[in-house]
Amino acid sequence: MSPSPRAADAALGERLLYSRPMLDSAPDPVPDSAHVSAHAVLNLASLLKHDATLFEVSDEGLLLPEPELLEADGLRLGAPLAWALSVQNAGGDDDFILSGEVAGEVLMECRRCLSEVTVPSRSTLLYPMAYRPGRERLELLEREGEEDDLLVFGKPEVDFAELLTQLFAIDLPLTALCSEACRGLSPEGVNLNEHPEQAPAAPEPDKPSPFAALKDLEL
Ligand SMILES: [Zn+2]
Repeated sequence: MSPSPRAADAALGERLLYSRPMLDSAPDPVPDSAHVSAHAVLNLASLLKHDATLFEVSDEGLLLPEPELLEADGLRLGAPLAWALSVQNAGGDDDFILSGEVAGEVLMECRRCLSEVTVPSRSTLLYPMAYRPGRERLELLEREGEEDDLLVFGKPEVDFAELLTQLFAIDLPLTALCSEACRGLSPEGVNLNEHPEQAPAAPEPDKPSPFAALKDLEL
């Protein structure tokens, strides 16, 4: 994923004609594998030159994070993550703004019947970003007295794969349902969506609650 500088500039010029958001549809569930990468790299060299005519670098792609990254966040993906990122010059010499989004589908268990559910999710990103030469990795630093964390990078080529994966994982719902009407499991563990006849009989309306006696207790 490293086009010639001239091609990159042309592509950039083209992108500047369009405004964000950059992902306008859910990711293709069967993406062209040629475009899938374990990295999401933006080369910010042209921004670091402080060329006044250039104020934005952007790109997009499909990310299939390394297994360690997925495991660290407990993610099981149904498809690669679609991402789009833009880094803009924020005016200061080494100050930038990162914006973008990451979208995809994770596999989760229905909390009632435990069947596998595909859950779509999307996260947006907006961070101040600063160049700190010498740093090996992209890092998110907390700043005292500031609401936003600061992203710092130390090399022109920045791999956003880990950040995108983590932010996508953070925004996922904690639980999932295969359907609002999911009947769940019987006490024996039978999926009642598939075998509704095995559902326990509904309690009789007249049957007194086992807690009915409690309300007469003098406490
Ligand atoms: Zn279910």
